[in-house]
Amino acid sequence: MRRYANVQMNDVQIIMMRLIMEFTHQHIKTRKHLHIRTFAHPHIHAIFAVMNILILGSGGRESAFAWKLAQSAKCDKLFIAPGNAGTPQYGTNVNIKVTDFEGIKQFVLAKGINLVLVGPEEPLVKGVHDFFLADEQLKNIPVIGPQAEGAQLEGSKDFSKQFMQRNNIPTAASRTFTRDTLQEGMAYLATAGLPVVLKADGLAAGKGVLICTSLQEAQLELAEMLTEAKFGEASSKVVIEQFLQGIELSVFVLTDGNSYKILPEAKDYKRIGEGDTGLNTGGMGSVSPVPFADAAFMQKVEERVVIPTVNGLKKEGIPYKGFIFIGLMNTQGEPWVIEYNCRMGDPETESVMPRIESDFVDLLQGVAEGTLHEKELIISSKTAATVVCVAGGYPGEYMTGQAITGLDNMRGSHVFQAGTARQGEDVIATGGRVLAVTSLQDDMFAALQQATADAARIYYDGMNFRKDIGFDLL
Ligand code: AMP
Repeated sequence: MRRYANVQMNDVQIIMMRLIMEFTHQHIKTRKHLHIRTFAHPHIHAIFAVMNILILGSGGRESAFAWKLAQSAKCDKLFIAPGNAGTPQYGTNVNIKVTDFEGIKQFVLAKGINLVLVGPEEPLVKGVHDFFLADEQLKNIPVIGPQAEGAQLEGSKDFSKQFMQRNNIPTAASRTFTRDTLQEGMAYLATAGLPVVLKADGLAAGKGVLICTSLQEAQLELAEMLTEAKFGEASSKVVIEQFLQGIELSVFVLTDGNSYKILPEAKDYKRIGEGDTGLNTGGMGSVSPVPFADAAFMQKVEERVVIPTVNGLKKEGIPYKGFIFIGLMNTQGEPWVIEYNCRMGDPETESVMPRIESDFVDLLQGVAEGTLHEKELIISSKTAATVVCVAGGYPGEYMTGQAITGLDNMRGSHVFQAGTARQGEDVIATGGRVLAVTSLQDDMFAALQQATADAARIYYDGMNFRKDIGFDLL
């Protein structure tokens, strides 16, 4: 007799069970459109390896995760906390904040959640994974996303720069200063070339990076960041960094702490205005694949950045199960790391998920169980393009509460909702980035054209979107 998924069974029974499992997975797959879900008992859950999954977050990224996970025969019940007006298409919304760890615990236990996928960085940096590991009742429930120590790759620019330097990962030369070393920082700026980059050490809602073109501006900003807390506690330390010239792209790695898979790369568009002009935003669109990230470039990325990063974490005893988002600059064909994030990007996820053909629940299970090396990652050769529809006024103070029409008018795209809520019969805009319209097509031109045309089929007061997403890549 052996224990299998907590049930006593002999070898013959185990073989029978596995045969039934295989048959049932096929059965579920073929009847999935009927939404037939049959397993309720926790032991049966484990034996059949179907899971109840909780996604934390509410943006377009979490919509894309939910869309992808809901397609898996291994996903039984899917919950999104807190979700948005679009996520009930894929699962059930739960009104819990991503940083309400106690509320998450109660829900996870009540609903028999078998896996938690963390979307945004805040709960990771605040230690949601550590909270699970420290709790007797939660410690065996896998969380996808690093513990607070690993999340420092994003939570502290100083930590990530030191990590890269220790592990010989190509990155811009830099030094870190505090209020106590402000005068040294001023002197360092006088010797640094221009432009020069100033980065608040901590999380600053994507606003903590300044590119200064004159010494006077740089010194003024450094003083404001360190002595006047320009970005609050986040700028109590400032990294001063050499400016890198080139084209940016985002590379995504999924790791179980030992092995890794490189997910489809993407390019995102940060500026509000067409032709990459105007203020920075959370992201106005994305495209995957990125033509200049050819096999030769990606090989350099893997050898010089991905492998040393995963090995560096391991060597330094930093546990890491989750995504590593590597922001890269391609400088004349050479990759340089601009930043790490400890989660997937938004709106990149909306272009990355549609290109993953493998069962994503199976891959996440590989991360949870440390068997990622046994899993296969199949990537579509098609192009995914995402156009983000934002609220009037964004990225400044923006309008909210407008009813959205045209969501059902898509001709060749899927809408991943982001800053939306339900109000009676209406879907209304509630956030700066309201919707992400994604099209997956055989060639890049068709994908860009379709996503842009479908975005134009949506309407709400003040709506804005860029009509040039990805056209620079053609
Ligand atoms: P980060 O928050 O580190 O991603 O920085 C935000 C943005 O600032 C990046 O996406 C780049 O466009 C730009 N940036 C950051 N560091 C550098 C650098 N060393 N050289 C050039 N641009 C940079």
